Amino acid sequence: MKIIVIGGGIGGLTLARICLDAGFQVEVYEKRSLPEMLSGAGGIFIQHNAMQVYQWVWDRKIYDRLYEQGGTILEGGFLSKHGELLYRSTPNLAQAKDMGVCLLRSDLQQILYEALPPETVKTGYAFKNYEETDKIRVFFQNGHCAEGDVLVGADGLYSAVRSQSQGKPRLEHPIYSGTCCWRGYFEGDDLPIDKQYSWAEYWGQGDRLGYFDVGAGRFAFYAFANAAAGGTDEAEGGAWNVLRSRFSNYANPIPAILDALSAQPIYRDDIYDREPLGTVWGQGRVTLIGDAAHPVQPNLGQGGCMAIEDSFELIRQLVLVRESETIPSMLRQFEASRCDRIARVFATSRQVGQTGQATHPIACFVRNWSYKLIPTWLADLQFKWLYDYHPEPIDR
Ligand SMILES: Cc1cc2nc3c(=O)[nH]c(=O)nc-3n(C[C@H](O)[C@H](O)[C@H](O)COP(=O)(O)OP(=O)(O)OC[C@H]3O[C@@H](n4cnc5c(N)ncnc54)[C@H](O)[C@@H]3O)c2cc1C
Repeated sequence: MKIIVIGGGIGGLTLARICLDAGFQVEVYEKRSLPEMLSGAGGIFIQHNAMQVYQWVWDRKIYDRLYEQGGTILEGGFLSKHGELLYRSTPNLAQAKDMGVCLLRSDLQQILYEALPPETVKTGYAFKNYEETDKIRVFFQNGHCAEGDVLVGADGLYSAVRSQSQGKPRLEHPIYSGTCCWRGYFEGDDLPIDKQYSWAEYWGQGDRLGYFDVGAGRFAFYAFANAAAGGTDEAEGGAWNVLRSRFSNYANPIPAILDALSAQPIYRDDIYDREPLGTVWGQGRVTLIGDAAHPVQPNLGQGGCMAIEDSFELIRQLVLVRESETIPSMLRQFEASRCDRIARVFATSRQVGQTGQATHPIACFVRNWSYKLIPTWLADLQFKWLYDYHPEPIDR
């Protein structure tokens, strides 16, 4: 079986490695140049559930490299902007030795790319359209044509594969969350950061700022604020000035982190999601994974983790293709099998976003007190379903 993958992000690269492990041929087509594909803003949490997948991929080599490169997620906490601890998270949440790994996005992309033979990923190939017969023929903007048995759209929020499979010239605009997010990283060794915590997130009114250990003395940061879509920082003299005026009244170590950020690039994005598609994501020999199928708000740090889980579950179905089970029927079974979990991640991500972004002083007061009063074991119980994911190795 030959699988054509559009998009060389977390989902597309992970899927390609799992295809090779299963003995399938695979080609990944990415529209960006290689240096662009290997870049990315800030850091990312690859949480326990997604690490469970990498345990069964490429003889654990990606798994081991992620732990070598990144920061292991141990304890973390939500705090008020005044530095009061509201909720402390430990690996008990997943009944595991840790909660996974955090690393810079560029490091993650590099590790995933290096897990593939160099000819697998073709950069500078923008998907144009496809034709389906008893095969799939895929056409690119540069005139190239590729042929395979399955087409997987791993091409992100504005997926062109999804729009063609739904018979639309382009996708509807995604749903704006009402928040924008700044991201970047800083050197943390000399900063007054409580190293007991691998991550911490401070909640204000309509804004919040978090940081996390991405290994080798570096920390990634993110900051959310309620804002109109399409805003920029230009009028206020750039992102750093905006962050300073918004967050410098937060408790230590936030002011010190803001100072450290002056030396680093800061990226700003608006945050979007899309309502889940339900039980059917693709059509015929075409399916979707990751953000192409189900972009979620990043408040749980699970969008990329879901793309990793999708990749594994997709190949689990495709290895079962026999004469009685056609490729399209196995693709639909894959999509249906992911539907409930994705819907829950989508809804919980929105809910956590609304909690973190509360603006009214009374709402913030109630939020902070309820987080303080709820016992940790009870708060953890809410997320048991998320970390209760135990993939078994794929039967080849
Ligand atoms: C602020 C923020 C923080 C986040 N934090 C986390 C986190 O901590 N943990 C987590 O798991 N997730 C996190 N996420 C979500 C995560 O980034 C996404 O869910 C993840 O990147 C999705 O991976 P993907 O491979 O599906 O898509 P993408 O990463 O979007 O990759 C799509 C790829 O397809 C390419 N492409 C697009 N169109 C075409 C085309 N026409 N032809 C060829 N190639 C094309 C793109 O160039 C890109 O390389 C966060 C998101 C945001 C915005």
